[in-house]
Amino acid sequence: MADTQEMMNESNGQSERSERYGQDRSDKGFDKSDKKKYFLKRKKKVCAFCTKGAEPISYKDEKTLRKYITENGRILPKRVTGTCQKHQREIVVAVKRARNLAILPYEVR
Ligand SMILES: [Zn+2]
Repeated sequence: MADTQEMMNESNGQSERSERYGQDRSDKGFDKSDKKKYFLKRKKKVCAFCTKGAEPISYKDEKTLRKYITENGRILPKRVTGTCQKHQREIVVAVKRARNLAILPYEVR
């Protein structure tokens, strides 16, 4: 009797990468399991200005800039919008210019 039992090497693939961005969102309203699901499902965000092609960010373009500020008028961080560093900088400058010209609000209460 030839006993040919192959030992399956179970690779303990513990690849728990703790990618923390130094933010505490524990009081967001969902459980830890939901949080993990969301983390696995979420797609990689791409910078809208890089994909769109050659369309410069203008301080006069209120419609576009509105997408990058909160309803309170604050500029959204790039980790939320997925904008690249280069275009985020341009957005910040454009929003600040627009605020100065009263196109966008400084603050909404
Ligand atoms: Zn970009």
